[in-house]
Amino acid sequence: MGRIIDGKAVARDVRSRVRDEAEAFAVRTGRRIGLALVRVGEDPASAIYVRRKVEACAEVGFASFENELPEGVPQAELIALVERLDRDPAVDGVLVQLPLPRGLDAEAILAVIDPDKDVDGLHPLNAGKLATGRPGLRACTPAGILALLDHVGVDPEGKRAVVVGRSVMVGKPAALLLLERNATVVLCHSRTRNLAEEVSRAEILVAAVGRPEMIRGDWIREGAAVIDVGMNRQHGGRLVGDVEFAAALPRAGWITPVPGGVGPMTVAMLMANTLQAAKARLVK
Ligand code: NDP
Repeated sequence: MGRIIDGKAVARDVRSRVRDEAEAFAVRTGRRIGLALVRVGEDPASAIYVRRKVEACAEVGFASFENELPEGVPQAELIALVERLDRDPAVDGVLVQLPLPRGLDAEAILAVIDPDKDVDGLHPLNAGKLATGRPGLRACTPAGILALLDHVGVDPEGKRAVVVGRSVMVGKPAALLLLERNATVVLCHSRTRNLAEEVSRAEILVAAVGRPEMIRGDWIREGAAVIDVGMNRQHGGRLVGDVEFAAALPRAGWITPVPGGVGPMTVAMLMANTLQAAKARLVK
């Protein structure tokens, strides 16, 4: 019977470590670590995510600077704001909440963020550092996945890791992080020929597709560590993952629930990244 990985508890541990270090940073520098958050438009999910990030900042003792722009804001105005935050010495991290409304080119905007303040780890330079095995700021959700595996003592080295989903934000960087930790990585996507067969060989499975319970429980290899990134809202508001949890649980060694698995780790790793960015600026 699989053991459930309590993402909320692991995230709490990460935040508590960040809080201690943030306190020491403030004593040493005379200022609090600062995270700037930029939100455009009225997407209700984005509003919730930004609120959670602001709450996490308060909990770990960071200053948070909220910036809200109306739907329909010209791209140049958004870029000017990001450039201003890049230059602001009180700001250690700049985060533009995605997705952006239609008409704004997210890729172009992310590229304006100072790579040293890119706490979401999505700037092409940071993505390139990950791809070439150099230290840098890593994307938060994939970093959270690795932190969960570390917490339960699942070492990726030498293991067969299967990642389903190849998005720039989750699947691809998760695969690269697992590779960096010496897993043998298979990266699956919508054109993968026999997904069930690939999944059934995984000692570590990361599901990041966005399709409710598409990974069937009987595909799971006995004893596998299953990390379910999917967040799919069902009719009636229930949140389910990409893995058929109830059927996967008896086969898995470890498994993350949805909610309460990867989700809380994303925000915790954002705090950890902001701390890392602040400390790196001190030695520059
Ligand atoms: P994307 O839609 O950007 O990517 C989905 C990926 O799944 C694509 O690579 C796609 O392949 C692949 N895919 C689609 N259908 C299939 C299929 N039938 N078989 C195999 N692969 C398939 O999603 P994201 O990566 O942004 O997010 C994935 C999920 O994770 C979502 O539910 C999202 O809400 C959740 N999420 C959760 C976070 C958290 O903090 N817990 C953070 C970010 C995301 P192809 O490239 O070929 O199209």
